[in-house]
Amino acid sequence: MMSELLVFDPPRRGKPPRHLADLDVAERRAAVAALGLPSYRADQLSRHYFGALRRRPEQMTDLPADVRDALAGGLLPPLVEAERALDCDGGATRKTVWKLYDGARVESVLMRYPDRTTVCVSSQAGCGMACPFCATGQAGLTRNLSTAEIVEQVVAAAREAAERYDQRLGNVVFMGMGEPLANYSAVIGAVRRIVDAAPAGLGLAQRHVTVSTVGLVPAIDRLAAENLQVTLAVSLHAPDDELRDTLVPVNTRWKVAEVLDAAWRYAGVTGRRVSIEYALIRAVNDQADRAHALGALLRGRLVHVNLIPLNPTTGSPWTASDPRDEREFVRILRSYGVSTTVRDTRGREIDAACGQLATRDEISTNLGE
Ligand code: SAH
Repeated sequence: MMSELLVFDPPRRGKPPRHLADLDVAERRAAVAALGLPSYRADQLSRHYFGALRRRPEQMTDLPADVRDALAGGLLPPLVEAERALDCDGGATRKTVWKLYDGARVESVLMRYPDRTTVCVSSQAGCGMACPFCATGQAGLTRNLSTAEIVEQVVAAAREAAERYDQRLGNVVFMGMGEPLANYSAVIGAVRRIVDAAPAGLGLAQRHVTVSTVGLVPAIDRLAAENLQVTLAVSLHAPDDELRDTLVPVNTRWKVAEVLDAAWRYAGVTGRRVSIEYALIRAVNDQADRAHALGALLRGRLVHVNLIPLNPTTGSPWTASDPRDEREFVRILRSYGVSTTVRDTRGREIDAACGQLATRDEISTNLGE
């Protein structure tokens, strides 16, 4: 059965070193005390890291040199190293390949729009969900990222937005490599660091954080109970179980109806509109009858549909829908009163678009700053 392909628990590997961003405020004070320093140093360090986005200890000039070294040595281990960065869309999209402490690689994508700047981050190295149209799914799961490995992608993006483009990072989407809800506690830790007010965290608006999932029902309910206002996105891709079993193999465990029920519970508890993601694949899931079936499922709900023209991935025979079929799909959904938009395909030429993130262990070219 398909579900044998699914991997929820990654192979055992070492843990990344502990980092400031793994810890909440109380834990930071305890960690600083354990280094033999007064606990207010934890708040100072947090102001540098989360507030001013400083990375290097020598930039923290209000700290005596020996304190700086102790804090940096104990709480700011290098976790992610930019190995390559690629620009596209006239410079509005920039993908960074990060090398992690154990050689695993993940990618994040910074996207600039006229009115906002968004980073798409990875939550796992690889992915265990095995969706056949997604490049990340093909290589399997290497390991979960730690909270700080996720936060570091966001902090780096905020820094880059500020320094390179003079913009403020406002949005974070967990739509990079990995299934966020299969790495639940690290992802929630990262969400808290992202939304907690500075200096505890980066202070982004909860509503500007989106967690995307294949539909792990118990974890959706857990997320609903966190008392957070983050946006939930569900990767549906088919309105019927027969097709969804093949496109999103975890559907063999939680069916369309169960996933949507969990989404409506999430909307009920949080008051947040749920996003439904639907990659339009030519002659696979883009037929008018599927649009009608989807419209009937979503009618009257607190929902928005993001249609994603399929992005090409190596080894997959599938392609995006004919534009006429896409337009018809949109029209039909809207005829059910379902709010629907087509997502722009940022980053296609640099394999940075949805479903194209699949870092292989390539020879690296080092990045100048
Ligand atoms: N695992 C989570 C987070 C990844 S989000 C999830 O599946 O929701 C990435 C989004 O891009 C998902 O909706 C995914 O289904 C979609 N996607 C994957 N491959 C794609 C492709 N080739 N073209 C367009 N969208 C794709």
